[in-house]
Amino acid sequence: MIQLIRGFKDVLPGEVELWQAIEKTAISVFDDFGFKEIRIPIIEKTELFSRSIGDNTDIVEKEMYTFSDRKGDLITLRPEATASVVRSYIQHKLYTSDPVQKFYTIGPMFRRERPQQGRYRQFYQINAEIFGIDSPLADVQLIFLLVTLFSRLAVPDVETHINSLGCPICRPGFKQALIDFLSKTKVKLCSDCIRRSKQNPLRVLDCKVPSCREAMAQTPSLLDFLCYECVRDFKILTDSLEHLNISFIIDKRLVRGLDYYTRATFEIQTGFLGAQSAVAGGGRYDGLVEALGGPDLPATGFAIGLDRLTEISDLQIDDYHKTPQIFIAALGQKSKGKAFEWVCSLNKTGIRAEMDFGEKSLKSQMKRANKLGASHVLIVGEKELTEGSAVLRDMMTKKQVFISTDAVIENVSRKLGALPL
Ligand code: ATP
Ligand code: MG
Repeated sequence: MIQLIRGFKDVLPGEVELWQAIEKTAISVFDDFGFKEIRIPIIEKTELFSRSIGDNTDIVEKEMYTFSDRKGDLITLRPEATASVVRSYIQHKLYTSDPVQKFYTIGPMFRRERPQQGRYRQFYQINAEIFGIDSPLADVQLIFLLVTLFSRLAVPDVETHINSLGCPICRPGFKQALIDFLSKTKVKLCSDCIRRSKQNPLRVLDCKVPSCREAMAQTPSLLDFLCYECVRDFKILTDSLEHLNISFIIDKRLVRGLDYYTRATFEIQTGFLGAQSAVAGGGRYDGLVEALGGPDLPATGFAIGLDRLTEISDLQIDDYHKTPQIFIAALGQKSKGKAFEWVCSLNKTGIRAEMDFGEKSLKSQMKRANKLGASHVLIVGEKELTEGSAVLRDMMTKKQVFISTDAVIENVSRKLGALPL
């Protein structure tokens, strides 16, 4: 038997309803906040990701699914969405009519990481990007949107972590201080961090290995190195969050794995996920649009891990399971034919109707209606058809009424509260 690939998963009925509810809620929050949907391809040229994410990142170094296609071009299954949204914004010159654009996109991402709880090789993200706004208020709006969404999704125990990554003017000073600190640290870093400390020292801050985390507890803080503008923007960020009553934790070790981030960076964490505590991450990436060949326009965004969100949302899955409103138990050839017509018409009207397509006894059809959780059963045999009246049974109250077989759709719709035909 062929099994799915390690790190990949199926989302089955029974679970998928929660995914749908989360996606619907996210879409309605995006609508409320003025974001438009953008759909981008799942495969892009490898160069798009290596240029935008940066060669010295885990993603580009070891996590991307890269193939050469039949003509030898290098293509990659997208590991994240921002690079593609930026490419699209530039390629279609979406900035010409108005540089300020707000987009969201929902879909699968691919990273070849070690699979574990909360970490898959195909996972899903809900992404948002705001282009063309310099003000840190755009970052605040993103954080406020996240907090709003998580509250609508009944996600308990969320913590907003923030930091500033500085800008190309002030970050080099911090980088040097960090390099000095790393060369002096006595604690043994993991082999990845030893390499990172040479190639991309900021990434050491992000390491999840406990001994590295311990080593980095005393690290210098980027906030002490910020230039005037970065200090000013960080203050606007923290003041605005306070005004909006959003509690936050300043986390000096919070850096993004991606090279193009500047200034505000944030992460939403929750205690429920153990080691995989980040459910959303984001921040400003002012240099990326220009670096990918577009105009010098600022941008900020976030990505939510949808898989992790489904694991922590307190939404009651039972509220989203849909059971048939009516099951038609038909006996005999003629009644089966009629029942099928009725099921089709009821489905068309927007009523969840089911029947048994085989030649089962009434008892086994009633059993099936019960198993499906149908709220009503219409029982119809040859006799009922001739007499023009069939029994409609309410499965909860066990009450039965007769309805005319000449006007089943009208009667059932009225009974079940569907829209008039
Ligand atoms: P982590 O530190 O957990 O590896 P990351 O910094 O690589 O996360 P981002 O690139 O910022 O993650 O992606 C945003 C969100 O996507 C994460 O906060 C997480 O919820 C989710 N995510 C990232 N990688 C995976 C994965 N392999 N499986 C499931 N969800 C993931
Ligand atoms: Mg990662």
